[in-house]
Amino acid sequence: MTTPPPTPGIHHVTCIAGDPQRNLDFWVETLGLRLVKRSINQDDPETYHFFFADAEGTPGTSMTFFPWENMTQGKVGSGQVSRTAFRVPEGSLDFWEDRFDAHDVEYDDRVERFGETVLPFRDPDGLPVELVAVEIPEDDPTVPWTEFVDEDVAIRGFHSVTLWLADPQSTTDLLETMGLEEQGTEQSPGDTPGDERTRYAAAGPVGAYVDVLPTVEGGRQGHGTVHHVAFQTPTDDDQEAMRSAVQSAGLRPTAQIDRHWFRSVYFREPSGVLFELATSGPGYTSDEPLSELGGRLVLPGKFEGRRDQIAAALTDVTVPTSETAVADD
Ligand code: ZN
Repeated sequence: MTTPPPTPGIHHVTCIAGDPQRNLDFWVETLGLRLVKRSINQDDPETYHFFFADAEGTPGTSMTFFPWENMTQGKVGSGQVSRTAFRVPEGSLDFWEDRFDAHDVEYDDRVERFGETVLPFRDPDGLPVELVAVEIPEDDPTVPWTEFVDEDVAIRGFHSVTLWLADPQSTTDLLETMGLEEQGTEQSPGDTPGDERTRYAAAGPVGAYVDVLPTVEGGRQGHGTVHHVAFQTPTDDDQEAMRSAVQSAGLRPTAQIDRHWFRSVYFREPSGVLFELATSGPGYTSDEPLSELGGRLVLPGKFEGRRDQIAAALTDVTVPTSETAVADD
């Protein structure tokens, strides 16, 4: 087996929500992300698929949701991504606590983890999310979206995902196959007492970390849980090499599937978390100009012929916008 090029990090995280309007309002207006794509679940076309990201939909910044209104509340547990963390600029956590107070967002006390400060909170569906204060370098690849929040506090892509696993060893072997390196283990404040959190790091500047915690209690998919996490395999060749390595490790990856904005391979890692490998291209600007991202319902080719029927089955939603988008002084 040849070694595949290491993944640069997380590509996107996809979650399950309830009410689509509430989901849009929170992720766009409260958290200040940009709706870069308003589409449908390609396996369930009568459900929306919303993509929230930085200003340009940079790989490593998009949090996506299936608002499955008829599903029940989920339970975070073993075999899931238990926490999704975003990078925010150092010094911005006071702003975020004030904003959470003003918007009735449930949040917990800050915790220190691997030398960084973490602010845990939940979205309106109960999804556990975290903001991690980090120094954003001058040449950072992410581009802040400043319609609702200023550049100096804006979310700048993923920091990490935390996996809760029944059998961490098999998964950490897989993470190493994917090119992540162990960074260390610490007793982790804010987690179940006694749990040890081990951090793995990819090479990229965004979404580089995967934290692993041993957990036995099972979860249940539903509102407020993560559906899957995708890792970057920038080119088709990178992806095929990673797919082969994963298959050689005894897992069962799908063939490549065209997801319109990227091409994907899926597999379950040994403890049951659904992983995806996603290419960088063609990207969110392949079917809408950058200035108009998210402005209309976009249907991947084969669904366009059924636009009227699909649109009629979707709940009407309004994307929050601000007349007073914050200018850069
Ligand atoms: Zn995905």
